[in-house]
Amino acid sequence: MKNFEYARANNPADAVRLVGDRPGATFIAGGTDLLNLMKDGAQTHDRIVDVNGLALTDISHGNGFLRVGALARMADVGAHRAVREKFPVVSQALLASASPQVRNMASIGGNLLQRTRCGYFRDTGSACNKRIPGSGCPAIDGENRGHAVLGVSDHCIAAHPSDLAVSLIAVDAVVLTNGPHGERRIPFGDFHLAPGDTPERENVLTHGELIVGLELPLTPAAAKSQYLKLRDRATFEFAVVSVAAALDLRGRTVNDVRLAFGGIATKPWRSTDAEAVLRGRALDTATIDAAGRAAVHGAIPRAHNAFKIDLVQRALSRVLHELGGVR
Ligand code: SF4
Repeated sequence: MKNFEYARANNPADAVRLVGDRPGATFIAGGTDLLNLMKDGAQTHDRIVDVNGLALTDISHGNGFLRVGALARMADVGAHRAVREKFPVVSQALLASASPQVRNMASIGGNLLQRTRCGYFRDTGSACNKRIPGSGCPAIDGENRGHAVLGVSDHCIAAHPSDLAVSLIAVDAVVLTNGPHGERRIPFGDFHLAPGDTPERENVLTHGELIVGLELPLTPAAAKSQYLKLRDRATFEFAVVSVAAALDLRGRTVNDVRLAFGGIATKPWRSTDAEAVLRGRALDTATIDAAGRAAVHGAIPRAHNAFKIDLVQRALSRVLHELGGVR
């Protein structure tokens, strides 16, 4: 690991200044991903600004929203009663993430910024457009079982690793930030970026912009929601495919729905096409199957990951049958 300077921030403005005035600086909270990346040499910084002392750990609800501080720990948010009752998809996604030890350390804000598990990205002996722009993408013709089939480009096909992010896009969360240019509210669907021709850019944050919290609107669909994660082993494993669904039924008719997917896309992937198939229709097996087909429309399989296209449709079918009580 290369030498770096350590600084501790006393308030958000302090944190923003300490990172904003140094191009190689970054924030650290739980450090569960950042320190591994730095040890591996996949990411380097000359200043680390510790934000753990900031008062950003509250979880509260009222006036139609749940608010979660960016420094709340994954374990605390996942187990919080209001999250379990009003946003079960978020609680389930958090408790299916990583391991108990990691969930006790990792912050909510940091979870959204975790980087891909693509092996080429984390191996500094390999080319990788995300780590070294213009160096190439060996995953496209190489080992790509864990990679994405949606949102891909000729420059990168890495899957986004966060379970939490998939659940948040299914409940219309908003990311709250504080940065050199003031405060921002960023709708979750606009937060992460598909790789395009700049895979090194993964979100819309500007340098020195700090995530301070999340705002989740309380809705009937969010209260009836579910997360299903399919993975190679039962714990401490990333999703092969995952589904987050939020469903508001009036009788048998779908009044409102959100569908999001993980493991299959380069960013947390909401499928408005699949939602459109369901909205206003009676929820039955034929409609669910049609939504599944819409969800994977345009998918680009590679040598080792084509199975995900079928698997994610089966996962969606299971979740909607369970949530909707469809036999
Ligand atoms: Fe790098 Fe993306 Fe290619 Fe992986 S898929 S090697 S992260 S460019």
